[in-house]
Amino acid sequence: MAIDGPAGSGKSTVGAEVARRLGALYFDTGVVYRTLALVASERGIPPDDAERLAEVARTLALRVGPPSVDDGRLYDVYVDGRDVTWEIRSPEIDKLASQVSVHPQVRRALLRLQREIARNGRVVMAGRDIGTVVMPDAPVKIWLQASLEERARRRQRDLAKRGIVQPLEAIVAELAERDRRDATRATAPMRQAEDAVIVDTDGKSIEEVVETVLAIVRERCGCADHGADSSSVATVPSP
Ligand code: C5P
Repeated sequence: MAIDGPAGSGKSTVGAEVARRLGALYFDTGVVYRTLALVASERGIPPDDAERLAEVARTLALRVGPPSVDDGRLYDVYVDGRDVTWEIRSPEIDKLASQVSVHPQVRRALLRLQREIARNGRVVMAGRDIGTVVMPDAPVKIWLQASLEERARRRQRDLAKRGIVQPLEAIVAELAERDRRDATRATAPMRQAEDAVIVDTDGKSIEEVVETVLAIVRERCGCADHGADSSSVATVPSP
């Protein structure tokens, strides 16, 4: 199934829990763009150098797997054997990931990797273009949304847990800018698929949203009650 929506709409938390209950793999495609952004910035590649970014994207030695450390992470993210799970969650990478993901060459290079994971079978994949581009045939598509203010408050809480203090106005501005860039890029812009079901998460608990999504899965494909509580994180092999 595909879960798309803007930053802070709850895709990761809800997607991981829905996958766990379905006994499906979970894969958060934002990780791919974030890791590319981190590696590119470490190598001094500017976010507008599409060719060099695409080259890095083609050879990205990324590994995503079940969490090996009990520090609040939903999964491990390794690149070149290095644990970058938290490094890719900084405000700088929020912005850079959105900048590197506008380039068609970059998206093309990363599409194959995402589709390979989709072929694994039962998978819950979260992102911006999963229902429209990566898995247009997914039997269930969800569009998660929440108001900008609510998303900013969630982001502020998440950052505070990691000791990063940011004023709410700065987060609102950053999210609005990222939404605009993600929704207006020419290739695979963030948008809901025509056959996606919209789930509004404003004022709802995670459990309520998870239950709503599972009810949609049951209705759409009757597959919500199989193999619950088994593996929940996709493992991505290096290229
Ligand atoms: O979902 P997350 O906030 O981790 O994604 C970081 C950035 O990666 C997004 O702002 C977006 O620019 C990009 N992205 C994308 N397509 C996806 C997932 C993420 O362009 N499927």
